[in-house]
Order: sequence, then C-alpha cells, then structure tokens
Amino acid sequence: MFVLVANLGSTSFKYRLFDMTSEKLLARGAVERIGSPISKATAQVGEQRQEREIHAPDHAVAVTLCLQQLVEMGALPSADQLAAIGFKAVHADGVSGVQLVTEEVLRAMEAFSDVAPAHNPPYIAAMRLLARELPHIPLVAAFETGFHETIPPENRFYAVPQEWYHQYGIRRWGFHGASHRYIAGRTAELLNNPAAKIISCHLGGSSSLCAIHNGKSLANSLGMSPQTGLPHNNRVGDFDPFALPVLMRRTGRSLEEILKDLASRSGLLGLCGSNDLRDIEARATNGDESAKLAIDVFVAAIRHYLGAYLLMMNGADAIVFTGGIGENSALIRSLVCRNLDWFGIYLDEEKNNTMRGEGTIHQPTSRVALWIMPTNEEIIVARQAADILSKRGVP
Ligand code: ADP
Repeated sequence: MFVLVANLGSTSFKYRLFDMTSEKLLARGAVERIGSPISKATAQVGEQRQEREIHAPDHAVAVTLCLQQLVEMGALPSADQLAAIGFKAVHADGVSGVQLVTEEVLRAMEAFSDVAPAHNPPYIAAMRLLARELPHIPLVAAFETGFHETIPPENRFYAVPQEWYHQYGIRRWGFHGASHRYIAGRTAELLNNPAAKIISCHLGGSSSLCAIHNGKSLANSLGMSPQTGLPHNNRVGDFDPFALPVLMRRTGRSLEEILKDLASRSGLLGLCGSNDLRDIEARATNGDESAKLAIDVFVAAIRHYLGAYLLMMNGADAIVFTGGIGENSALIRSLVCRNLDWFGIYLDEEKNNTMRGEGTIHQPTSRVALWIMPTNEEIIVARQAADILSKRGVP
C-alpha cells in the first residue's frame, strides 16, 4: 500500500512517499512556489535527485504533477496505485484521532481556524481543493490532538465553569501528537521498556513537552490552542487572558489585532526580534541582551514543565530532545539540564556537544537517560492512514 504524507504550506507542499507493506521510505520531495507562473518540483528517490520547473497554479495540479514525477522516477508503479494522502492536521472542533477528510471534518477544522490561525487555513484550502479535483484519492487527516486523548481529567480541565468544557470544548487538547507518539514508541523500544516514563521535549518552530507513561500521554504543555505552553518561534506560549482588556484599552486595538500579534509576532520573535534560534544564539554570544533574555525565558519555560512532569510521574526513565532546536542546539540542552543533580540528572557536556542523530548524552552515573532523537512524524501519519484504510477494506 502506497501512502503519500503531505506537509502543506499556503504556497508549498512537502511530501514523503511510503510503501506501507514494508514501511519503506520510497521518495521525498517538495513543490514550491505553487500559484506562481513557474513552480519548482524536487524529488529524491534513493540516490536519484530531480529538480524540474512545472506550472502548478494550485495544490491539486502540484500533487498531480508530483505523482507523475514519482512514476517517471520509478518510485510509484502508477499514479492510481496511491492508496491515500495523509496529513498531519492540527485542530478541529469536536473532531480528533484519525479521520477520512469529509466536508464535515473540513467544517470542524474551519470552526477552529481562529484557534489555530497559522495551521488550519492553508490545510483547509488545500484539502478542499484536493477533495474536489482528485476525488479518487482518499485524504486522511491524523489530528495532532489524537495522541493526547489519554490525558487524565486533572491535566485536561481548566478551572472554568464546567459547561465551557462540555458545551464549548474549552480544554487542554495537547498537540504535536505525531512527534510525541513517535518518541514514545522509539524510546520504549530503545530502553526495552514499554512501561517507561518519558519526558519528550519537542523543541522547534513550535515547542512542547509531553509526559508519557506506558506509551500514553499524561500531559502536554500545549493547551486549548497551539499558541500556549512554551514560547514558540513567533507565538506567545502561556499568557494571562486578563492582559487582553488592558492592551485593548491602552493601544486602542481590537481583540482580533492583539490575538494576531500573540500568534505571529510574539514568542522568541517578540522577545528579541528574531525567530531563528541560530541567529539568537549568535547574537547572545556577542553580548546582545534581548537575545540572552529570549534564551533565558525559553529555557525557564522548558524547565518549568520539565519539573512539573518529573514530579507528576515521580521521576523519569528518559528525557528526550527532538525537533529542530532539540536535535541541534547543544546550548539549549545544556541550559535545560544544568543543576539537576538533586534529581540525579547529569548531562555529559562532551557528548552533548558532539552527538549527531540518535544517541545518549548523559553521564554513566545519571539516574535518567538523556537522549537526542530525530523525530519521524511522517511515518506515524503514514501508519495511521494505512490503518484506517485497512479497517475500511483497502488492500
Ligand atoms: P518546525 O517546528 O517549523 O518544524 P523545526 O523543528 O525545523 O521547525 O525547528 C526550527 C528551529 O530549529 C528554528 O528555530 C531553528 O533556529 C532551530 N535550529 C535548527 N538548527 C539549529 C542549530 N544548529 N542550532 C540551533 N537551533 C537550530
């Protein structure tokens, strides 16, 4: 069974193609500048890499041409052999888990476009177009909230009137589900312990921590929306809603305008004017105070949740760093793990500075294993898409 996993931007489309009988990655690629007179389609099949200029006025044409390219390069026997396109969808009102994309699912996503403003609108537009233009290809949405359905009530409820939860869906949903699910499975496999207590730290453009026990999510730092928890590259993280009326009064701006600022020019960007941690680290090294502050606030927030989850689970077997920052920033890992000797957590600075890819970075005496682990959200989405299709009788 061939499954294409797509990551959608408003003018781009990145993908991986899997053969799910063996879980083999057959191809990866992207179409960029969709909607411009000339778009670029890049595909990598084994050692073979191809870049071509195409005319892709929209995402449906981009998908059709990319399937053609994959057939020509020998990754796919024919375009009609594709069993499904899987998407890492973010949020929908009253819908979670893994779903075939229907008009009902799209409307539920639309209803939460203002809760996930950076994520939902480009996905809805492209999915709706694909459903209309390529109706023979099943579309599967694997919602980021799905892994967190096991979060117990004490970590799920906000302390608000009960009907807000029951009637309006106001709760901590949790996100980054595909990544945390992958880290849960892979870490349990590496530790040879399915019951392991794991704290997964996905640090990247979006960041969140997840407490995992027995393979199940117990808590996630993201709440009702993907704007909460840790500061993100340009989104706010935890914030007191009572600051909103003060801001509205003092700036004369509308609630929508202020929410837009919180979702697009806050987080690391708001603190120091840059949303790329590489630049921020370089500036901090050169003495830039606002860059140092951004790093300090980010690290303090990570340690806040790390401490909470260590307490909640009465310790941990492993703390895992993943995502663009988690995998690549030795500085952030080092700052997060400093002064944790009371917990018996000891980072090996040498390993932390040199480890690439998957590996441990703790000292032999550390009570908790510290891992760097590249995540693989695409294989999780591909598995979930294959699973829902098999249940519906697709071979
Ligand atoms: P997304 O959440 O959008 O998928 P990524 O997981 O790719 O994002 O993470 C992007 C972040 O990773 C950026 O802030 C970038 O600065 C950071 N990053 C990537 N490489 C490094 C590095 N070598 N050192 C520090 N930060 C890095």
